Amino acid sequence: MELPIPLKVKFLVWLAFRHGLNTKDVLEKKGIHLEKICCLCSKLEESHTHLFIKCEFVYSIWRSILFKLKIEDGFSWNSLKEMWHNLKAGEIDNGKMKRDVFICSLVWCVWQERNDRLFSNKRKRSLELLNKIMTFSSFWLGSKKISARAIRLQERRRKKSADRMQAIGVDRRQNRAMGDEVIQLE
Ligand SMILES: [Zn+2]
Repeated sequence: MELPIPLKVKFLVWLAFRHGLNTKDVLEKKGIHLEKICCLCSKLEESHTHLFIKCEFVYSIWRSILFKLKIEDGFSWNSLKEMWHNLKAGEIDNGKMKRDVFICSLVWCVWQERNDRLFSNKRKRSLELLNKIMTFSSFWLGSKKISARAIRLQERRRKKSADRMQAIGVDRRQNRAMGDEVIQLE
């Protein structure tokens, strides 16, 4: 089953789980030296695991999301990577859909927030960021409902025309039996 999130978000999440984003520790290894402290909590050094899981600013958002989704155990970086692995393998059921959309939305919004703070001098409070994550998730989950409805409609239409074709086929056989008359389709 496809996760109903935009391709650019999928790509970012994919990069994040491969530690492929330019977090400050990655930049350091590339020889770009920036102030290493995380701009969300201003306490610890920025890395993938810190930014998306351990940062106390993000952790408070995680807790609200897990509470909303009624999930008791938290997420480690490994469990997130496992989730992503399952997603890629197509092992996602409807029950997990909501959870996975929220996770992708969080990764997307946290990275945007980090960049806004770093490059645009804009900042959201944790509640504002939580609202943004919820809004994106609901929107994507809503678009999934719309596309599911569109697929159902399409299937119904296809079935109708298949039925019609079958009926025509039957007529054709009947006509043939009656001596190969010219068939009027409509
Ligand atoms: Zn932090």
